[in-house]
Amino acid sequence: MSGGIRLFSVRGIPIRLHWTFFLVLPWLAFAMARQFAAFAAGAHTSRDALLLSPGTWGFMLAVLLFGSVLLHELGHVFVARSQGSQVHEITLMLLGGVSHIGHVSREPRAEAKMAVVGPLVSIAIAIVAYAAHLVFEGIAPDLQFGLYYLSHINLAIGLFNLVPAFPLDGGRVLRSVLEPRHGRVRATAIAATVGRVLSVAMGVWGLLSGNFLLVLIALFVWGGGTAEAVAVIQREKLEGVRVLELTDTNVAPVYGAETLRRAGDVMLATRSPVLLVRGPEGRVGVVTADDVARVPERDRDARTVDQVARFDVPMADASDLVNDALDAMDQRQLAYVPVVRGSWVVGVLSRETVFRAAQLDTTLRPSMDNRPSAA
Ligand SMILES: [Zn+2]
Repeated sequence: MSGGIRLFSVRGIPIRLHWTFFLVLPWLAFAMARQFAAFAAGAHTSRDALLLSPGTWGFMLAVLLFGSVLLHELGHVFVARSQGSQVHEITLMLLGGVSHIGHVSREPRAEAKMAVVGPLVSIAIAIVAYAAHLVFEGIAPDLQFGLYYLSHINLAIGLFNLVPAFPLDGGRVLRSVLEPRHGRVRATAIAATVGRVLSVAMGVWGLLSGNFLLVLIALFVWGGGTAEAVAVIQREKLEGVRVLELTDTNVAPVYGAETLRRAGDVMLATRSPVLLVRGPEGRVGVVTADDVARVPERDRDARTVDQVARFDVPMADASDLVNDALDAMDQRQLAYVPVVRGSWVVGVLSRETVFRAAQLDTTLRPSMDNRPSAA
């Protein structure tokens, strides 16, 4: 997930704020300003007793929401870390937080533990904040007000995430419960189906009640659950497959100093959307049709391949497992990586080819979900 501001880091984990998060700010300020008296009454105080203005409270609640989502995500990532996973960053966005974690444990109990800890953190904060709210009742109205909504924000985050709609936390717990009995692929498929049914219900409810945030969340649950189910099936199908088996060895090389016009012509002639690039000092990179297409036609004679090629991509070794190479590609959001064998670059591994191989397996062996992997 790129785009957004890097805020700070917590124990070496960078925290990034996605631009969509800023949509929450004006929305909360607006909601507060419109019904401030009702909000105050909800927290058992009166609007006249509050010192801060509705606009300030709208902003403060957005900050509290941000902090609450962050603590929820930190709950997840600290457990992930304790299980030996690598945490890259946390992105906070409109619909909550996304933790970028590498090498997540696929052991059901570990996964359930990691999923459930987020909502538990939120609910624990909700309870503590509610108790504190009662303590300050009638003494400090602003504190009482803030604590009341801090408690409710966290209760909402905690309970909502426990809904068993994969890929929400509750859906992940559901999958871990189903996994020992049904195997990972089937468990994911069932959890994703439950998630889709619930997301339709959420979407309809959101539309009928005019709550468009809920509609957005429903779309996120639908899309996210489907994508993850597909990814799990794909990985399962590719268990034990080595990079070399799926390497495209017919990818033509170009030199970094050649023009983009020439690169485009080679792509057309070889019908390949990617070329290997031999850059200065023996560096190897890749250039894709999209890279070339981003440069206007008329400029392609003047610009060279190394101006748009990517040389910072990781190399996959021909003997690596495809799933490990996919992990590396996911982390950098790459569609292609060069493949090396010894000191030779032998071709390119593309996400497209990997996807097609898994698809083919699914088509020809649809009922083999639980077969032991042939490695
Ligand atoms: Zn969570």
